[in-house]
Amino acid sequence: MKIELFDTTLRDGTQGEGINLSIQDKLLITQKLDTYGIDIIEGGWPGSNPKDEEYFQSVKKLNLSHSKICAFGSTARYPNKIIEDNNLQSLLKAKTEVISIFGKTWRFHSEVSLGLSNDENAELIFNSVNFLVKEGRRVIFDAEHFFDGYKDDRNFSIKMLRAAEQAGASDLVLCDTNGGTLPNEIFDIVTDIKNQFNVPIGIHAHNDGGVGVANSLMAVKAGATHVQGTINGFGERSGNADLCSIIPNLGLKMGYEFNERLDITKTTSLSHFISELMNVEPDNRAPFVGLSSFAHKGGIHVSSVLKDSRMYEHIDPSLVGNLQRVVVSDLSGQSNIRYKAKEFGIELPKEREFSKKFVSYLKSMEYDGYQFDGAEATFELLLRSELKEYEPYFKVVYAKINVLKDENNLDYSEAVLKIKVDDEIEHTAADGNGPVNALDGAMRKALTRFFPVIEKVKLVDYKVRVLGDKDGTGAKVRVLIESSDGENTWSTVGVSENIIEASMMALTDSLNYKLFRLKNKVKPKLLTWIKKTFAT
Ligand SMILES: [Zn+2]
Repeated sequence: MKIELFDTTLRDGTQGEGINLSIQDKLLITQKLDTYGIDIIEGGWPGSNPKDEEYFQSVKKLNLSHSKICAFGSTARYPNKIIEDNNLQSLLKAKTEVISIFGKTWRFHSEVSLGLSNDENAELIFNSVNFLVKEGRRVIFDAEHFFDGYKDDRNFSIKMLRAAEQAGASDLVLCDTNGGTLPNEIFDIVTDIKNQFNVPIGIHAHNDGGVGVANSLMAVKAGATHVQGTINGFGERSGNADLCSIIPNLGLKMGYEFNERLDITKTTSLSHFISELMNVEPDNRAPFVGLSSFAHKGGIHVSSVLKDSRMYEHIDPSLVGNLQRVVVSDLSGQSNIRYKAKEFGIELPKEREFSKKFVSYLKSMEYDGYQFDGAEATFELLLRSELKEYEPYFKVVYAKINVLKDENNLDYSEAVLKIKVDDEIEHTAADGNGPVNALDGAMRKALTRFFPVIEKVKLVDYKVRVLGDKDGTGAKVRVLIESSDGENTWSTVGVSENIIEASMMALTDSLNYKLFRLKNKVKPKLLTWIKKTFAT
């Protein structure tokens, strides 16, 4: 059975708190969804704001290879003359092949919010759908609050669906608008509706009960063939049903098919791309596509995973474009270290003595506040330095950081550094808008003379965590930084009682790591996978 996929990230997804997309972002997302193989992309509500209207103008210029663009709107205002209704007119003006319109299918809403009788509401739905169908559009009818409406007054909600069907709607999409329906109810209700209608049935689930994905799967099981959702479950309140889980579940576990173009192995890359554009930190624990979805931490788990990953993984991560990871943590056993070394292409000495010694070394560092989960580059340098494969390329021999005010009373910082490379000492200074920024600038300025490649390295993320507060301001801080050379990214860590020193340690590791990789032509494997997949 083939399932039609309808993405509403650009419409319902942008209702989420803190989400704001420019037209350019929306166009980039449209292209990405098209490449991935989504059948219909709901681009926005042209009647609601000028930005969406502009989107529909610009999207026509994209050369989409598969996806159809859909404009969203509501039924006409009662008792407006249909032809004069602004909302329907702006839907037509968007000139999309597909239009989705929502109508009230819960009597409570129809009566209280619109003040309409049953017949008046049915007539409104019929006339609105029919008007657009006659204009040659494919019209998808979104039955708003359908499940709540069905439970309240089954006859009413079915009567409204019938009106849409008779008016020529191509699909009847049952919406769990408040997101509170449970999977068994969804199954029963969709089964009932499926038996009464010949047009395809769709599902539009929200995640307020934490079962948005389960509800979508149950609707399909009951016969729905059109599924609406958003990438990463973005959407208002607790979000919409997450297509990044629905698609792998339907395709890999339940045996449903999609159009031939759809490539499930691109799901992880799609998910990260959308998070990036939404400016939202990717959810590491997201099923299928999270950084941690196939991460193993405990020593016993890891030794089993190394034997046969099926013991602790529900699917092969590559099926969704994700990767198995072993997390280096305070639970680390020797098998973790061996696994990690293999990942970096490092050959560990055969005798167990080495890994045993290294594990206890790591444990003492973790006790001091280090954490290597998010700082694999520092971990790799430590391991290589234990193996005598690596020595730092430079040393900071003097550092002075001043926080100052300029003539306009604005804060700025100045860093003065002496850096030793071989036997030469480079003396530099740089300003920055904060002490870390100044330090970063001075360090790179000093090193660029020796290693021009350093110029390409940029600081892309900087996180500080205060470790415990037993000593008040004397508490230790852990600084995690992420650096990029435009092609790859890597993360390093520093721990100290002094935030500047911790930052300097993480920065030093970061630049040393870049140099080590360059000199030894080591290709990073895992550290870069998010950015890499993001780029493809
Ligand atoms: Zn919705």
